[in-house]
Amino acid sequence: MTYSILIVDDDDAIKDSVEEYLTLLKYNVKSALNAEEALEILKTFNADVILTDIMMEGMNGLDLTRKIKSTNDIDVIVMTGYSAEYSYEEAVQAGASDFIFKPFRFEELDLRIKRVLREAEFKKERSQLLKELEKLAITDALTQLYNSRQFFSQIKTEIKRYNRYSRPLSLLLLDIDYFKQYNDTWGHLEGDKVLMQIGQTISSCMRSMDTAYRYGGEEFTIILPETKLKKACVVGARIKDNISSQLFEPEPGKKQKVTVSIGATELVPGEDFVSFIRRADKALYKSKETGRNKLTYIDVNKD
Ligand code: GH3
Ligand code: MG
Ligand code: MG
Repeated sequence: MTYSILIVDDDDAIKDSVEEYLTLLKYNVKSALNAEEALEILKTFNADVILTDIMMEGMNGLDLTRKIKSTNDIDVIVMTGYSAEYSYEEAVQAGASDFIFKPFRFEELDLRIKRVLREAEFKKERSQLLKELEKLAITDALTQLYNSRQFFSQIKTEIKRYNRYSRPLSLLLLDIDYFKQYNDTWGHLEGDKVLMQIGQTISSCMRSMDTAYRYGGEEFTIILPETKLKKACVVGARIKDNISSQLFEPEPGKKQKVTVSIGATELVPGEDFVSFIRRADKALYKSKETGRNKLTYIDVNKD
């Protein structure tokens, strides 16, 4: 990988010799005679490291460092003479990643650049890893939908939003019908395939603002922000019909239908998530009680 370096120094001799040396080392190098020119170059040049002098006409190197760090995360190494006008602490406080006294040996400069680049790579890897971990923590491994932990966190967030903006909020609760029997007949692995497929079907039937969760073993929930009960029922019915129209093949030649029961409800003012979920659960129970492969809603406004 070729790294890009921007040198900023108002001393032509230093600027040119550093540029020549770093170019020899196969860095992609650009240079500027002052901070203003450097900022202009940075508009189109993607530098990995900026090497800047401190004492310059116009904006000095520390101000340049502050400005760069306030807008993006490019590493800055500041170069200064032994005049002791600026301290290491000042440079670090301004956001510099390293500090080098002039005159320096080029080998030392290269080592410092390499160390800064290595640390930047570590930082990038760490933040990627953290992002992956965060995703893992909220994802259900089997279906790749969000997990129940994320459901509880999200539903509380949505209720807060509801209270602030008075936008409607609906909830669907879905449970696979006779799933124990499916598992007992075809085995747990075949049951897992059904769960995965149902997860995908739910995702493909909901709208972009809806979020789906694996709530429990064979139970799913869908949070529908900005949605009144009637519209939520349309989405729920679409999911239910789509699932019941599919044929699973737990063994070659054996076609099996799977159905789901759904409960739907809309949040009412002042309600907490426990009562909201309980009502969706009650609606789901009614779907089970009255034959399964059904969607039942409870409309509090009309009861
Ligand atoms: P109902 O129509 O009343 O919902 O009946 P049911 O058999 O679906 O409900 P029940 O609660 O009796 O059984 C749920 C079954 O879901 C039991 C269990 O075998 C199955 N199950 C739960 N989690 C998983 C899972 O992760 N993988 C598989 N394959 N099956 C699961
Ligand atoms: Mg269940
Ligand atoms: Mg079930």
